[in-house]
Order: sequence, then C-alpha cells, then structure tokens
Amino acid sequence: MSDDCVFCAIVAGDIPGRTVYEDDGTLAFLDANPLAPGHTLVIPKEHHQHLQDLDDDLAADLYATLQRVVPAVEDSVGADASNVAFNNGPAAGQEVPHVHGHVIPRFEGDGGAP
Ligand code: 5GP
Ligand code: ZN
Repeated sequence: MSDDCVFCAIVAGDIPGRTVYEDDGTLAFLDANPLAPGHTLVIPKEHHQHLQDLDDDLAADLYATLQRVVPAVEDSVGADASNVAFNNGPAAGQEVPHVHGHVIPRFEGDGGAP
C-alpha cells in the first residue's frame, strides 16, 4: 500500500470505486473518466508501479482477471471488441503509478483505437 496512491485508496475502500470484479489479489473497477462506456481498470491490489515489478504469481492472477473481465465488460455494454492496454511508466502516459490495465470497449465503426 502506498499512502499517496489513488488506486491503493480504492483498494482500501477509502475512496469509492465502482467494482466490476474482485478477488483476493486483483480488482477491476470503472474508470472515472471513461474513453468509452464500460471503460474498466484492472489492477493488482498490491502497490507496484511497473508490470515488471509483479512476481510471477501476481502477474498470472492479473492476466486471469483480465481474461475474465474483458468478455464480461464487452457483454455488459454490447461491445464488439476491446482495446486492452497498459501505460507502463510516465513517459508512456502512466499518470497513476500503480499497475493498471485499461479495458476499453470498442464498437464496429467507432473510428479506431483511442
Ligand atoms: P493512466 O494514464 O495512468 O494509464 O490512466 C489512469 C486512469 O485512471 C485514467 O483513465 C483516469 O481516468 C483513471 N483515474 C484516475 N483517478 C481515478 C479515480 O480516483 N477513480 C477511478 N475510478 N479512476 C481514476
Ligand atoms: Zn497503489
């Protein structure tokens, strides 16, 4: 847990998050500023900044949660597909320094990747 991390605060229940899925090691919740309906963030509950900081078990848990959440999110908003992406480090646009995968639902004819 990092004291000044907004996603750790969501994990701790100190600020609200709209939970999509949760298990012992991971959490998925709706993005506060969605790029598309259903835009969801998938995180490990432990605080780590970079993907490469996760140990193998936690990385596997995170991937399993993505595999579960992606089709559930697509179904929930009637999407045809989704972009799944990690901004891994500030120079790549990572603003929240806690590993998170974006699941962004996509719709036929919506104009391409954001
Ligand atoms: P990044 O640019 O770090 O890859 O993406 C951070 C994402 O976190 C952004 O899409 C932003 O809208 C989202 N975000 C930032 N603060 C909060 C928050 O307090 N709650 C939720 N649900 N999402 C947040
Ligand atoms: Zn954190």
